[in-house]
Amino acid sequence: MDVLDQILPLVKKPARYAGGEWNAVHKEWSDVDLRVAFAFPDVYEVGMSYLGLQIFYEIVNRRVDTLMERVFAPWPDMEEKMREYNLPLFSLESRRPVGDFDVVAFTLQYEMSFTNVLNMLDLSGIPLKSTERDEKCPLVIAGGPCAFNPEPMAAFIDLFAIGEGEELISELLDSVRKGKQRALPRRDFLLEASRLPGVYAPGLYRVEYRTDGAVSKVKPVQEGVPARVTKRIVRDFDQAPFPRRPLVPSTEVVHDRIMLEVLRGCTRGCRFCQAGMLNRPVREKKPSTVLEQAAALVESTGYDEISLTSLSTSDYTPVSKVIKSLLDQHAQRGVGVSLPSLRVDNFSVELAKEVQRVRRSSLTFAPEAGTQRLRDVINKGVTEEDLLETTAAAFREGWRAIKLYFMIGLPTETDEDLDGIVRLAKEVLDLGRKARVPRNKLRVTVSVSSFVPKAHTPFQWEPQDTLAELKRKQDYLAVRLKERGLVFNYHDAGLSFMEAVFARGDRRLETVLIHALELGCKFDGWSEYFNLERWLEAFRLSGLEPAWYAGRRYDYEGPLPWDHINSGVSRRYLAEEHRRALSGVTTVDCRTGDCPGCGLCPDLEAKPSLAGGV
Ligand code: SF4
Repeated sequence: MDVLDQILPLVKKPARYAGGEWNAVHKEWSDVDLRVAFAFPDVYEVGMSYLGLQIFYEIVNRRVDTLMERVFAPWPDMEEKMREYNLPLFSLESRRPVGDFDVVAFTLQYEMSFTNVLNMLDLSGIPLKSTERDEKCPLVIAGGPCAFNPEPMAAFIDLFAIGEGEELISELLDSVRKGKQRALPRRDFLLEASRLPGVYAPGLYRVEYRTDGAVSKVKPVQEGVPARVTKRIVRDFDQAPFPRRPLVPSTEVVHDRIMLEVLRGCTRGCRFCQAGMLNRPVREKKPSTVLEQAAALVESTGYDEISLTSLSTSDYTPVSKVIKSLLDQHAQRGVGVSLPSLRVDNFSVELAKEVQRVRRSSLTFAPEAGTQRLRDVINKGVTEEDLLETTAAAFREGWRAIKLYFMIGLPTETDEDLDGIVRLAKEVLDLGRKARVPRNKLRVTVSVSSFVPKAHTPFQWEPQDTLAELKRKQDYLAVRLKERGLVFNYHDAGLSFMEAVFARGDRRLETVLIHALELGCKFDGWSEYFNLERWLEAFRLSGLEPAWYAGRRYDYEGPLPWDHINSGVSRRYLAEEHRRALSGVTTVDCRTGDCPGCGLCPDLEAKPSLAGGV
């Protein structure tokens, strides 16, 4: 593609668009029946750090009848050149226009990437709205956590894949292939695909609203379309397809290491956490599988670090044993092990000690709230004692910097809880001083995000604090966290506000997204590009009020915009958890053997599976 060669020297980081990485798969288009473009709605460095991409790349390219190539959102400088030179969005492998593929598969990891999806469709010459696409257009599908409230994106996506995609992607591709062979008209194909378990075809549902504007019903418009779509899960996680020859990026990316998933699901039950509710039940890989996959990955990638990934790796039952074996097998070649997340306990400090031959500069813990009362409300099973003991142990072991994650705006929060954050941070700092960490090296970083009520969690009904209140709380903390050795970071409250709007939004937000794109809202997850004023203008132009979505207490008894998507966790359980939260009553983790009855196992005929052994 000559134009591309002309453009690449003119943009920042041309490697983002060059392809040709180690382990990339190049298949002949004429050798396969179906071509799939995996579209990540963010820049290359972020997309290449997403394990799901590697998994789907393996599954689709392993089939003889299909191929998958990759496409990422071009950074604004590249987009400008592409538009100037009339170059459509293209895949990295064959450099073919995205519009030539049979299927374009987006992953929706974050609400603030929605306009990037629209922009990528536009750059591909694919009509934004599903209803405007004809037989020649690729099928546009989407999955990922945001598909669990698909409604704000309903107008733009032909089919949503709900839940884990390892098995569903193949079933869906079989169905697309057969549909193509039979020259099935697009609408008939969507109807047929909507009958596959885990597939939601939004164009086949109608939304009704109450007089107060709230959604009253989302119902199928045609016979045979399921009233509710239940998420898919991989029952045999141990044997699920896993890429043994993953792509190795040729430029620096966010997670530049082997990502080896050891555990799926987290059942600790933090009440604000959507990932914890959506990824049930908990399933662990056998140690022998982890070791065998690790050996293959070290061999095929040349990386010198294996990151054992999951929502909470220190919960992986055989974690110590596996780390020891991995180090025994690979340390001699200079390959280390890392853990992306740590629990607040001494066991985690021990693990961190084990894996880090060279002491890293900081350890991160997430107590989330400043008082025991509020930690009980959110079901964060961490006590003040745990935190102080753990951080004291970390300082003793030689760490000099500790990062603490908190959330503000949580349901029932008062200024006393904010004072608790300040007190805890200062106590941790004090422990560092007592452990004689040199004053110029001692650092306690308090990082504060704002609570975003998410669909399918016990807090889905809760209002978010107003923007003004979130900013007041940030200022309140900033004033009180001024001390040598303390660093205070906080996320943009405006960004969390917009995130809440789309996390609990409905179909009417399609107009906002179109206006936002026209106004230039892109890469909104990047603070340098997020512009709240532009978003508010998009709402004004659409005649919608964002605070109505983010700051309203949703009707407890009434329907929710995402009721037709079944995460497996029952509404009855979420409501019960919500009531328990308000009474400060905690709930046990079902990995201990006690089932608090979230409803998933009976509904999906699944059960937790632990690898066993310590
Ligand atoms: S049904 Fe019980 S055991 Fe299964 S995921 Fe829910 S709480 Fe855990």
